[in-house]
Amino acid sequence: EGTPATAGLVEKDLKYVWHSMASYSSVSQPMIVTGGEGSWIVDSEGNRYLDAMSGLWCVNVGYGRKELADAAYEQMMNLAYYPLTQSHLPGIRLAEKLNEWLEGEYVIFFSNSGSEANEVAFKIARQYQQQIGQSGRFKFISRYRAYHGNSMGALSATGQAQRKYKYEPLSAGFLHVAPPDSYRRPAGQTVEQFNLLCAQAIEDTIVWEGVESVAGVIMEPVITGGGIIVPDRAYLDKVQEICNKHGVLLIIDEVICGFGRSGRKFGHQNFGMKPDIVTMAKGLTSGYLPLSATAVRKEIYDSFKDVSDEYGHLRHVNTFGGNPTSCALALRNLEVMERESLVDRARVLGERLEEGMRALSEHPLVGDIRGFGFLLGVELVADKETKEPASLDTVKTIIGQCKARGLIIGKNGDTVAGFNNVLTFSPPLSSTDEDLDFILSTFCEVMKLHL
Ligand code: PMP
Repeated sequence: EGTPATAGLVEKDLKYVWHSMASYSSVSQPMIVTGGEGSWIVDSEGNRYLDAMSGLWCVNVGYGRKELADAAYEQMMNLAYYPLTQSHLPGIRLAEKLNEWLEGEYVIFFSNSGSEANEVAFKIARQYQQQIGQSGRFKFISRYRAYHGNSMGALSATGQAQRKYKYEPLSAGFLHVAPPDSYRRPAGQTVEQFNLLCAQAIEDTIVWEGVESVAGVIMEPVITGGGIIVPDRAYLDKVQEICNKHGVLLIIDEVICGFGRSGRKFGHQNFGMKPDIVTMAKGLTSGYLPLSATAVRKEIYDSFKDVSDEYGHLRHVNTFGGNPTSCALALRNLEVMERESLVDRARVLGERLEEGMRALSEHPLVGDIRGFGFLLGVELVADKETKEPASLDTVKTIIGQCKARGLIIGKNGDTVAGFNNVLTFSPPLSSTDEDLDFILSTFCEVMKLHL
C-alpha cells in the first residue's frame, strides 16, 4: 500500500502506465524508482537496492554520473538536434571512436534501439548481397533462445516462440538452429563434440536451404537473454569459417555483450572473430539516452557507394538516430570507461564473481554456473542428476528473497519449454569491491535458506 504519498503514485501508475512484460497482477505493486548512485537504486519508499541487472543490462558506468548529464547539457545548449542526413561533430567523433573500440575498419549507421540496429543490419545485408549479384540471398539464420529485438524483423530473428505467436505472420526467411547449450547436451557427447555439432547445424541449414538463398547469420557471442549460453571458442571459429566459406554475412549482436560486459571492449573480441556487421545499443550510452549503432565492414559500405542508380543507397532514415545529444553523451560515456579502465575492471570483477559463486556449486539447487566477463548465470535445478529445471516458484522465491535483502537479480532461460531457471547477474562495471561482496554475501545467504 505504501506511504500516503506513494499510494497515490501506485494508483496512477496502474491507471496510466502500460508496463512491458508484466501481467497486471504482477505489477500490482510496481517499484517506483526515484534515484540511483553507483550500482544502487532507491525506490519511492526510501529502500536501497544493489541493481545487479544494471537496469536492463544498460547502466555499465553506474547511476548518477553528473559528467554524462553535463555532456548532454552542453551539447543541447549548442545544438540539441540535427539529423544525420547531413552531419555534426558528435556523430563524426563517435563513429571514429567506435572504430577504435571495434579494432577494425567499420562505417557506422546510427539508430535508436537495439532492435532497430538489427533491422538496419538485415536491410544492409540483403541489399549488399543484391549489389554483389547475389540477389537470391534473403534468408537469415539465428539460434533458438536468442533475443534480437521487438520489431517485426528483429522479432523474426528472435528464437523465443512465446514472444512471437500472437503477432504472426512475421517476416519470411528467418530460420533457427539449436544453441550450444552444453549443460543440456545429449548424454555421451563431450562439450567439444556438442559445440561442433551445433556449429555444423548452421552449415547444414545453409546448404539445405540453398547456399544462394542465405544472406546472413546473426548471433550474440554469448546468448544472454536466453539463459547465458557460453559457447566454446571452437564453435565460434567454426561459425566464422562457415560464413566465410559460403558468402554468408556474419552479424554479431553486441547489444548486451558490447561495451566491456565481456571483459573485452566487444564480446566477439574474446574469440578473435571478424564480423561483417556489429550491432550495439544499451551500453553505448550506459542507458542514459537512447542510441544504437550498426557498424558495417568498410568493403560492404563501399559496395553502396558504387551504385549509380539514384535510389541505390540504403533506404533507411530515422529522425533521432545519431542525434548530437545522444552522440555527445555516448562519447563521454566511453571516455569515462577508458579513464576508469572499466573494461579491465569487468574482467577482474567477473572472475571474482564467478569464483565466489563456485562456493555454491555443491548446493542442491545449483545445476550450472556460467560466466562471461562480468555476466553470470546460475542455472537452478530441482535435481542435479536429471537436470530437471527448478520450478518457477522456487526461482521467484529466491529472486524475492534477494530483493527483500536489497539485491536485484534477473532470470532467464528456455521460456518456450517453460524454464525460466537461470538467475542472471550483470551489475554495473563500475561496481566497487564492497558492491561485489554485497552481491555474493546476500545471494549466498538466500541460497542457505534453500538447503
Ligand atoms: N539484441 C539483444 C541481444 C538484446 O538483449 C536486446 C534488448 N534486450 C535487443 C537486441 C533489442 O534492444 P532494444 O530493446 O534496445 O530494442
